[in-house]
Amino acid sequence: MMALRSPLATCAASAVAAPRRANVQRSFRAARLVVRAEQQQEAAPEVAAVPEPVPVAAAAAAAPAQPFSILGAQQEVINGRAAMLGFLVAIATELASGQSVWSQLAGKYVDQDLIEKPIGASVLFYGFAVIMIALASFAPQVYKGEGPTARSFGPFKPSAEMLNGRAAMLGFLALLAVEFARGNARFYSVDVECVATGTDHNARSVAQISLVDEHERVLCNLYVRPDAPITSYLTPLTGLTPALLAQHGMPLAQAVAVLRQFLPPSAVLVGQNIAKDVQWLGLKEGQHFEQMMDLTGLFRVWNPQYKSWSVFGQDHLAKVLLNWDVGVGGHDAVGDALKSIRLFKLYQSLQADQQQWQAAQHALLATPPAPSFARQNPSFEGVCMGNRKTCTCGAAFLG
Ligand SMILES: [Zn+2]
Repeated sequence: MMALRSPLATCAASAVAAPRRANVQRSFRAARLVVRAEQQQEAAPEVAAVPEPVPVAAAAAAAPAQPFSILGAQQEVINGRAAMLGFLVAIATELASGQSVWSQLAGKYVDQDLIEKPIGASVLFYGFAVIMIALASFAPQVYKGEGPTARSFGPFKPSAEMLNGRAAMLGFLALLAVEFARGNARFYSVDVECVATGTDHNARSVAQISLVDEHERVLCNLYVRPDAPITSYLTPLTGLTPALLAQHGMPLAQAVAVLRQFLPPSAVLVGQNIAKDVQWLGLKEGQHFEQMMDLTGLFRVWNPQYKSWSVFGQDHLAKVLLNWDVGVGGHDAVGDALKSIRLFKLYQSLQADQQQWQAAQHALLATPPAPSFARQNPSFEGVCMGNRKTCTCGAAFLG
């Protein structure tokens, strides 16, 4: 759908670009999730459009075409009535059952398991109501030559009805859009990639931000143009280039404002050294999100040989536990955020199975970690990469 490596400095829509680096089996699941999400997105308006099939021919025959209207008066009144009713039914059902409108229409899936069934009854009732409204709206026309706008039907009055109907149609779509964006997710992974704005290993500036939810939906892929001149894009490490930032970069404050639109205060942020990313973005625990969980701590393993805890980088965790090997370097914010959320979900499932958890810990210890980019390149394009043993710039190590 999108050209390979095509950058999208937009939210939600950039989900299609997500699997571009996901060279693992489960990338297909991510792709299916995206496809399913798109199908749901497309399927939703059909409900509002249900009344069209029967009345369209009759309307065309009975009334002159409306030159400046996409929908004829009849269709719009019927759609409007149906939307008002559907909006109420959907909200009432959501309030009563706690099940989202998405879930009511399509069911809710986590890892391809149906965890909430679609509510057939409300849909059936809604469909029945739509047909009744359509028939009742046209009955006067059939018998007396009156249009559906000419008289009231039940609680629907001709005055202001068109306006209410339009508002309800928009409201219904808005409800779906907000739910789609936020889902019912509790866990989110945020990842930041930085370019170098100086030669010491602390001179870094945010250049890409990605937000992925626990359903592996890429909610944000934002590029940031730093205020300070860029010394190196650290391209082998970040995947960032001058063209990417020139074309899609925005000020950091703007990117963070967009990110926060997609981050509910109830969010739990997960990631590798997540506190660092949170610090880069100026997010506040307890205000912009509820809490954070660091994968470094979750996946620490007691090493009996050294009688100490061993901790691992994200590359090692992803390679050993997800079979996701990007080689040395080859990072980007979207791929890293996806890795983090998968590692977190794996951690959750491993806690229920002590044998598997032991095996995972053993594999992490037994597999030799590949040398990091910083280990292989003490400096890159004149920029110190901040390896503790080979640092030449003398700047402090801030953790
Ligand atoms: Zn250094």
